[in-house]
Amino acid sequence: MNLVLLEPSNFIAETRARLQGRALQHIREVHRANTGDTLRVGVVNGRIGRGTIESIHSDAVEMSIKLDTDPPSPLPLRLILALPRPKVLNRTIAAAASMGIREIDLINAWRVEKAYWESPKLSEENLREQSILGLEQAGDTVLPTIRLHKLFTPFVREQLPPTLEGKRALLAHPYASEEMPRQVRDSIVLAVGPEGGFIDREVETFREMGFSEVRLGPRILRVETALAALVGRLF
Ligand code: SAH
Repeated sequence: MNLVLLEPSNFIAETRARLQGRALQHIREVHRANTGDTLRVGVVNGRIGRGTIESIHSDAVEMSIKLDTDPPSPLPLRLILALPRPKVLNRTIAAAASMGIREIDLINAWRVEKAYWESPKLSEENLREQSILGLEQAGDTVLPTIRLHKLFTPFVREQLPPTLEGKRALLAHPYASEEMPRQVRDSIVLAVGPEGGFIDREVETFREMGFSEVRLGPRILRVETALAALVGRLF
């Protein structure tokens, strides 16, 4: 946790916040912080600054808060991600949030197991928690918007196309002949497949909607590794 994210409900006065639970435990056990120490803090979807510990006990920490910096700029990238298995979903959401991705569409695909859509990991609460873990790691405050699309075709054929104007639409596909571009300046919509990959018919649908298939060298990477490599390459 490189930044302690504060919810509006943590504020007990305009410049004073009170924390319990996971954040308190982290401040006590990892930072080993004492009264008078300062920590990097931020407000969810708001500014970043410093918190000075006024009191710290086993049940709560109170800090005086000074916010003076804007969060880092988001990446100009919208991620279309075939729903991975729940454990991988958690890691991928946290990784995406930490890299500054602000828009994530989780979609169905032929090789997404149906049971994944029933997972409690898809709850709004869990997605928010994973995003917060990523933001606290990165030193950012802005939560991604995460949307769920249980039907592949209506999303890719109807909902997605009107939003693609002026953007570069890329489909990460290990078997593409074209290499992934480097250091682009465009706004990107990036589709990443399920652990079993997109099937040919899905690749064809993306292509018809204006996506170009691109590959990242000869190795097939896991979803969260592929995402980090793709983002590192693009920006
Ligand atoms: N067994 C699958 C691999 C899927 S890896 C298959 O044969 O297609 C999961 C996703 O990560 C892929 O669908 C793709 O979007 C992305 N990915 C992984 N390695 C990649 C690479 N070398 N180039 C481009 N995309 C890659």
